[in-house]
This record gives sequence, C-alpha cells and structure tokens, in this order.
Amino acid sequence: MTEPVTFEAFREKFGSVQACVEALFQARWPDGYRCPICRHSRYYLTRTRRLPLFECKACRHQTSIIAGTVIEGSSTSLTKWFQAMFLLAQPGGISSLRLSEILEVTYKTAWLLSHKIRVAMQSAEQSELLADAVRMESFGYGTSNFLNAHQPLMLGGSFNDAGDLQGIKMQQPDPDHVRMPERTINKEGYQAFRSNQVRSESVDSFPFYAKAHPKLSPYRRQLKLWLNDTFGGIGAKHLQAYLNEFCFRANAMLGKSGAAIFQSLLSWCATTSVCTYSILTSPRRTLPVAWRVFGSKSKWLKWHRRAWSY
Ligand SMILES: [Zn+2]
Repeated sequence: MTEPVTFEAFREKFGSVQACVEALFQARWPDGYRCPICRHSRYYLTRTRRLPLFECKACRHQTSIIAGTVIEGSSTSLTKWFQAMFLLAQPGGISSLRLSEILEVTYKTAWLLSHKIRVAMQSAEQSELLADAVRMESFGYGTSNFLNAHQPLMLGGSFNDAGDLQGIKMQQPDPDHVRMPERTINKEGYQAFRSNQVRSESVDSFPFYAKAHPKLSPYRRQLKLWLNDTFGGIGAKHLQAYLNEFCFRANAMLGKSGAAIFQSLLSWCATTSVCTYSILTSPRRTLPVAWRVFGSKSKWLKWHRRAWSY
C-alpha cells in the first residue's frame, strides 16, 4: 500500500469510516482475521453498529475492529484518528493545540489521541533494542541559562561495521540515578540504560566520558528545538512520551522512506492495547522542580541572575 503524501490527499483517501476500517483491518490482521480467543479464521460480520463487529464462527466471541487497539473505547471517529496518526507521522509531529484545531475536537481529546498514539510509538521503540556497536551518552534538556533546571537524559546509538548510525534511543533516567544538585547521571544510570535498552551481546565501543559523537549530536539539537518550537517546552512528567515519539520518527527515517512511517504507525496502533486517561495522567516520579527549593520561581530567577551576572 502506498499512501498519499499531502494531508489533503490523505483526507480524501481516508475520508470515510469504511476506508479506515479496511486499512485498520489490514494493519491488525495482515494475514487475515484471527479470533483473539481461539485463533479461528472465519467470522460472521455485523454491520448494524457504528463500527463492524466480528463474531468468531467457532467460539462465537465477538470483537469490534477497535478492540485491542489504542483506539478501543474512544468515541472519536476513525477518520479523525487516522488524521491524527498521519499528522503525528510527519517529520515535525504536531502539538495537541494545533491538532485540536485541525480535527475540530477539544484540546483534551486531541491531547488524549496524541498520547495514546505515543503509547503505540513506545511499543515500537520497546520492540527493538540497540545492537552491534553501541554508544551511550548523557545530555541535558532544559534552559541553557539555568543549569539546575536541566532534565538529564540518556542517549544511545547503535552503529554497524561501516560506522553508520542504525538507531537511537533516548531515556529519562530513574531519579535515583541522578546526582544532585548537579543533575548528572551516575554509573548506575548508565548500567540501567545498558541493561534495558541494549542487546546483551552488543559491544560498548566508546567510553562513557567521551564527548558527543558527531553522528548523535544533531539529535540532541533537533530534540531541543522540536520540544521548544512545537510544544513550547515539555515538563518532566510527560517528557518520556515525547522522547519516544522523537525516537520513533528518527528511527523510522533511518530505516524507511517517509511515506512508510504512517503505515508503520498504523500497524503499531492496531496492535497496541489502549492506555486510559487515568493511567496516562497518573503521578510519575520525576526530579524535583528546580525552583521549589527556592520557595518561588521569582526567587529562583533572582538567585540565578545574581549568580550569572558576571
Ligand atoms: Zn474464536
């Protein structure tokens, strides 16, 4: 399947629920329908509902086209879901505010769609570990003037024998793995990244303390620009979801043509279970906000202006 390149052409092609149902069916069951309970391949189709219902001919289990996908339980139309996936598959992604304007939905709905799609991107990222020759670095995301507001991040890259970059990963470290107040990642943080994100037989081909690798440093810059330009900056709580999105597209672009990214995203959305609003917004342990120890943001700024005024 080759998908159209412009948003207009995309909207035309996937302008009906029926077109989206067919594409979602293909993405979910590329080898034909399989009953989620008994794996039987034949079904009765019920079309009287908003979305088609598949009933297994063997065990009579009924499943809708969106059950078991990130779309499950959503009252937003499939055509809007497809448009959101298309826009998040584009090189710069899209902010929830802009998405809400384009889809003509509330900000909360656009935010929820984006984050559910980011969960599918996370599944894609978790499915593949860094391999071959692996490089691990750390860097900070945050304002350059106020060093202790930084969110330290781990960045990993895998390289083939020719020295070409094959894939990247970015992770927020566990707060226990961050030295305070300088906010640098300790040895345990590197080890945790190594054991969770890197294939065990890979070789660490570069020492920890080396400078930024010339093939990785553009990703540091792009990430900061993207977070600040597209979203006006992202706080610690949801930062990992945006890192997943950034790496999903970066890795897709390293391996595939731009046009295949939507198709890949659709497949992940069709095979990743839904994440509810309460799970998406549940508390998450992060580093303390830098100015908390100063009592207020203005006291913190005043302290920094004094410290940095010469
Ligand atoms: Zn069945």
